[in-house]
Amino acid sequence: MRFVLIGPPGAGKGTQSVLLSEYLGIPHIPTGDLLRAAVKDGTPLGVEANKYMEAGELVPDDLVLKIIRSRLEAGDTGNGFLLDGFPRNPSQAEALETILDEIRQSLDAVIAIEVPDQEIIDRLSSRASCPTCGRVYGIRKMPPTGDGLCDFDDTPLERREDDAPEVVQNRLNVYREQTEPLIAYYEGRGLLRRIDGVGGTDQVTKRIVGVLDGTPV
Ligand code: AMP
Repeated sequence: MRFVLIGPPGAGKGTQSVLLSEYLGIPHIPTGDLLRAAVKDGTPLGVEANKYMEAGELVPDDLVLKIIRSRLEAGDTGNGFLLDGFPRNPSQAEALETILDEIRQSLDAVIAIEVPDQEIIDRLSSRASCPTCGRVYGIRKMPPTGDGLCDFDDTPLERREDDAPEVVQNRLNVYREQTEPLIAYYEGRGLLRRIDGVGGTDQVTKRIVGVLDGTPV
């Protein structure tokens, strides 16, 4: 199974990717996490990408494509993969098609997770995540068991700098303007599946698995 999760910031892409990748036994490829790792390591790509990430803007396509191409060409994607946060605009979607053609693969589905704006703002204002495994917690609705520690690996949870309210608003605008057109793009290709992203984590996972089960591979 090869598929993409699309949705506004805070839709639950990161949470669902971790769960789905375990359930389906395929790697998940989170561009945001890969970029944040490059920023943390201080690589030239990370230094350049950070200028855009801090402002909630999209990182230029050429930088993101470098990361995606090398990740998709790694040996563990033969049985499938889950792309989280990529593509994020129509030109990245076209570049993805080219890369997949080159490695003789194609997408089976694109899942659009739909969540209303007010719910997104509420979620992001209380979100913390584990820098080690990527699990995401909502301090109000889905708190970790231990005080500020990841339930899975005990790493101290971190708040993302780009979850600051002024940056969140820009990320939502960027999503509407640049990423949302992908919904029509993939609808036109017969790949789009819409999922209601409101509800418990398990409920949303079940909805996605239900839709994927009905998807021919
Ligand atoms: P995310 O963790 O998916 O919310 O991504 C965090 C930030 O990383 C975004 O606001 C962008 O600045 C950058 N980013 C992640 N994925 C992409 C992408 N496919 N294209 C451009 N920028 C990206």
